[in-house]
Amino acid sequence: MHNIQMAERVKNLPPYLFAEIDRMKQDTLSKGVDLIDLSIGDPDIPTPSHIVDAMINAVKKSEHHRYPSYEGMLSYREAVAKWYKNRFNVSLDAKTEVLSLIGSKEGIGHIPLAFVNPNDIVLVPTPGYPVYPVATLFAGGESFFMPLIEENDFLPDFGLIPVEVLKRTKLMFLNYPNNPTSAVAKKDFFIQAIELASKYNIIICHDAAYSEIYFDDKRPFSFLELDGAKETGIEFHSLSKTYNMTGWRIGFAVGNKNVIAGLGKIKTNLDSGIFQAIQEAAITALDTPDSILSDIRDIYQQRRDVLYEGLRKLGIDCKKPSATFYLWAKVPKGFDSSNFVSHLLTNAGVLGTPGVGFGSPGEGYIRFALTKPVDRIKEAIERLGKVL
Ligand SMILES: *Cc1c(COP(=O)(O)O)cnc(C)c1O
Repeated sequence: MHNIQMAERVKNLPPYLFAEIDRMKQDTLSKGVDLIDLSIGDPDIPTPSHIVDAMINAVKKSEHHRYPSYEGMLSYREAVAKWYKNRFNVSLDAKTEVLSLIGSKEGIGHIPLAFVNPNDIVLVPTPGYPVYPVATLFAGGESFFMPLIEENDFLPDFGLIPVEVLKRTKLMFLNYPNNPTSAVAKKDFFIQAIELASKYNIIICHDAAYSEIYFDDKRPFSFLELDGAKETGIEFHSLSKTYNMTGWRIGFAVGNKNVIAGLGKIKTNLDSGIFQAIQEAAITALDTPDSILSDIRDIYQQRRDVLYEGLRKLGIDCKKPSATFYLWAKVPKGFDSSNFVSHLLTNAGVLGTPGVGFGSPGEGYIRFALTKPVDRIKEAIERLGKVL
């Protein structure tokens, strides 16, 4: 083959806006700069040791060395149902309303393949997790972007979506607590979303990856707690952020059994499930005593307080997040997202993520992740003070 051409769906991928930042980061590192990287949405804290120990035991069992079942071990799905009952008081049928995922990204990436036809529309929040529009594109669908702006508390305004669009809409992604804005939603908002979805026959896909990373005892709710939710859609969850297990690749989808079955059908044809030893360790993870999780939350909360207070003192405008491990801050006058990020990287050795990389309404913002220890965050604030 002499002329290797990418498929249209790959050629049509939006430009990777973080590529330039990656290049600058490598440049900075190669100069030997002591970089404080606050751009990474990946916990620096290790997986709790009781989960690692469960994995060590599970990996020795030869019955786990074979192909796993497609839909996930029943014992894993039962552990998910039990966790849901304890945490949200929502009852789930482990056999039909729970599906294991190779991380929630995998499920989010595949769901449009099950339900979206060419010319169907998917409602996508922006700024947002880039997988929503890309998965839509791969399925041949069209994204209609719902801007998340500060004036509307970073919630989509459904009143702005034309009726013609709603009639063609098959699926809607929502994500609260939100990455990148760290906004949380009230139940009223989800009640509105369910009403809209019922009226126009739209499947709601709620990405709840950050439901367990919250502060000041403000526990987020599950979309499935609301009346009509289970008729309307599903919720994606991840063990990645809750248990510091990003590398393990395990998550789950729960909710409407027809939607779960549709996603399951795609997966049956594409992957062969999750290594059972990981599922067994995940069962242990889901049973983690709350004291361990609240210790993890305390660490993030302390970091949040230091970063928030520090940025405010420097005159940087941001809201104090009540969930997620991100701070969504306004860039100062005279900068845009990208040149502010490069200013901080070049002159202070501190890296954030330009808001515009998550979608155009993210212009004018920078995202800082709380994935570095307090002393590094203090050092970052000190350095920022010298270049602002
Ligand atoms: C991290 C993240 C995920 C994906 O997590 P997995 O590791 O794939 O389970 C999904 N959605 C959002 C918004 C995230 O930030």
